Amino acid sequence: MKSHKDIAEILDEPACEHNKKSKSGCSKPSPGASAGGCAFDGAQIALLPIVDVAHIVHGPIACAGSSWDNRGTRSSGATLYRMGMTTDLTEQDIIMGRSEKRLFHAIKQAVETYAPPAVFVYNTCVPALIGDDLDAVCKAAAERFGVPVVPVDSAGFYGTKNMGNRIAGDAMVKYVVGTRDPDPLPASVQRPGIKVHDVNLIGEYNIAGEFWHVLPLLDELGLRILCTLSGDARFREVQTMHRAEVNMMVCSKAMLNVARKLEKQFGTPWFEGSFYGISDTSQALRDFARLIGDPALSARTEALIAREESRIVVALEPWKARLKGKRVLLNTGGVKSWSVVSALQDLGMVVVATGTKKSTEEDKARIRELMGEEALMLDDVSPKKLLQVVKDYQCDILIAGGRNLYTALKARLPFLDINQEREFGYAGYTGMLELVRQLALTIESPVWEAVRAPAPWRLQGTARGEAMDEQRLRPA
Ligand code: SF4
Repeated sequence: MKSHKDIAEILDEPACEHNKKSKSGCSKPSPGASAGGCAFDGAQIALLPIVDVAHIVHGPIACAGSSWDNRGTRSSGATLYRMGMTTDLTEQDIIMGRSEKRLFHAIKQAVETYAPPAVFVYNTCVPALIGDDLDAVCKAAAERFGVPVVPVDSAGFYGTKNMGNRIAGDAMVKYVVGTRDPDPLPASVQRPGIKVHDVNLIGEYNIAGEFWHVLPLLDELGLRILCTLSGDARFREVQTMHRAEVNMMVCSKAMLNVARKLEKQFGTPWFEGSFYGISDTSQALRDFARLIGDPALSARTEALIAREESRIVVALEPWKARLKGKRVLLNTGGVKSWSVVSALQDLGMVVVATGTKKSTEEDKARIRELMGEEALMLDDVSPKKLLQVVKDYQCDILIAGGRNLYTALKARLPFLDINQEREFGYAGYTGMLELVRQLALTIESPVWEAVRAPAPWRLQGTARGEAMDEQRLRPA
């Protein structure tokens, strides 16, 4: 179990600008805070996309149920990550003091049944409270079964979901990164005259497979992805992260500690970027070239950006005409609050307000820059407030995370899911085209007209109601 000192160390994240405002880089947990996702939830959600690992939740069955598979991250091969594994502790195990034994056997079963390259064990509240020695069990199991077993000490009561992300990142840096060197580049993918540079992406989860929109561009530029932590990643890739020339923090500060620690331990420079929207995608590609400092790569990058931007501008044109002037209420957190604003403005849409509950001061400054000083930023994003803004500002669509879905549907308002449960990928230039398509299809769907019209049984006595009655009573 983590000590106060361990938790204080994780809370203190010098690379996070929140550290300037208070001593803590992460808000301290308050009673009931885990309702928004506990530390265990955050740790598992951050590492579950490592697709070939056996992920075992050490705790009562409900912990595994609360977080398993709730992010639409995709794999290009292995599917072991989608197998929910838990020690399923009961009160009998706790009373009889056999929970460590159960964990050892769970690891044995996972190794013997699936032969994974590694096992990750997530600690939860109950075993942390009864004092299970997670590190010792994992060490013993690794020695016995000859497979790396990584303890992720993430009991829910340690803190919030964000803190869990950091605990997960910490575990990777401590136990996995640096344990293997990358494979040499196969001759079949080498191209004459192009020097290949190795890079990592941190905080990219390949939601709905969206990173596959960007990957071909990086391949073309001669950037080899050693690892994306953690979308569509393999254990052996995480082991090699220390060899990258540059790390990109993608759209999220959740694993900022990984970027900072890799810089400290291995001298790898890093930058924050986003693949949402045309300008941000181009900027991210330029940042890779800038930090690597290879003039040939910079030239290739500029040529690729010019080609892709002109291609996408032409492809977007017919959709832009359909979306121009539509009014949007955006409720999403963090970096996405401004990167999506700029993407929507590129399309000629009007963003009337944006939720900023999870945004940093820096994010808010970017929003003001984009939307003007009068920008309506909502810290209160309760359903009632959102619907009031929709009414007052005559919004055409709500773009938000899945938890706002029913708020929008009950108000008969078009809704687009932008967060982790979404089914379409919006990253990169091609992702922008998908975003536009989904926006247009959502706003123009005939269902809105149908559900906003009075119900047929309320039309009795009107001409339309009589026509409907007649139709209904007509013999078949
Ligand atoms: S780890 Fe703790 S807070 Fe999180 S789901 Fe399990 S019991 Fe609940």
